[in-house]
Amino acid sequence: MSETTATTNHLGLARTDYGGAKSTLCLGCGHDQITRHIIAATYESGVDPYNVAKTSGIGCSSKTGAYFINKGYGINSVHGRMPSVATGAAMANRHLVVLGVSGDGDTASIGMGQFVHAVRRNTNMVYIVENNGVYGLTKGQFSATSDKGARVKSGEVNDYADIDLCQIAMDLGCGFVARSFSGDAKQMVALIRAAIAHKGFARHDAISPCVTFNNLPDSTKGFAWLKEHNVTLHDLGFVAPYDAVQVEQAPGTTVSVDMPDGSHLVVHKLGDHEHDPTDRAAALAVLQRDRGEAGHVYTGLLYCSPTQSQPPLEDIKHLPDAPLATLNERELRPSRDQFAELMATFR
Ligand code: SF4
Repeated sequence: MSETTATTNHLGLARTDYGGAKSTLCLGCGHDQITRHIIAATYESGVDPYNVAKTSGIGCSSKTGAYFINKGYGINSVHGRMPSVATGAAMANRHLVVLGVSGDGDTASIGMGQFVHAVRRNTNMVYIVENNGVYGLTKGQFSATSDKGARVKSGEVNDYADIDLCQIAMDLGCGFVARSFSGDAKQMVALIRAAIAHKGFARHDAISPCVTFNNLPDSTKGFAWLKEHNVTLHDLGFVAPYDAVQVEQAPGTTVSVDMPDGSHLVVHKLGDHEHDPTDRAAALAVLQRDRGEAGHVYTGLLYCSPTQSQPPLEDIKHLPDAPLATLNERELRPSRDQFAELMATFR
């Protein structure tokens, strides 16, 4: 392990080692901001680029995987099926950092069945939804996360209530739930780093304006509206296991969430928001407020409980520490006694 320097991380790698292909998305798309935040987070956390599995589905958002960490494994799956592919990768090698990037179209409609079961099983992965409330790739139809009454460039108004993917994750017992805005780099980088450190399913809703189809001044997922109505819950800092804890703390207003890998997410509450992200009831109250006050979007760490959620899927399934592909025939084959025991269960 190297010393962290001004231009390299503790693995001795430069930020450019975490880059990918040149983006082909529209100039100014929020998704490209998120790509930069993913690169910053993985670089700063010293994630081994060769140990990353990037999975995505279909949509503008799902092209994101091509734009970061070109040294990692990447799979662009069938529409809405990203969670299955990610689950397979996480099960095959429990040491992989599995970064799933999807969109509101890919997750909240065709992929909903897959999404809820990945949450329910507590698959060990980071699941980012680049949420813009619109199907950008097919020219601007409303998605299921679009707010009721929202308007897109064509002038059409959405008649249906939105689906809140954070609320659904909370209902299913998810141990890490966050919401952020692509325009807030500091917040999103800290949240992605914490999501990587979390053991189990980490749900990250990244509101990401579509500048081409859903960016009118009153578009509730557009840049102008978000800049005015985004309420940031906390000032977040992330302290890696190899860093000395040097975070300014104001007594009574700072919570340190200790992550399983020895890192710490330092949550400094802002303004009047007394939200404690380790308190599930408080997190649900924030989500309800978000839905009730149509004028606000609350961003930050909504909920984190590294110890209270059920064990990650690979622990439930008693998977070995070694990647499955490295097991030899002797390790894979049950012993005579184990086989006899198994056969006895069928008699
Ligand atoms: Fe981004 Fe919208 Fe363009 Fe798709 S259509 S790349 S979501 S700005």
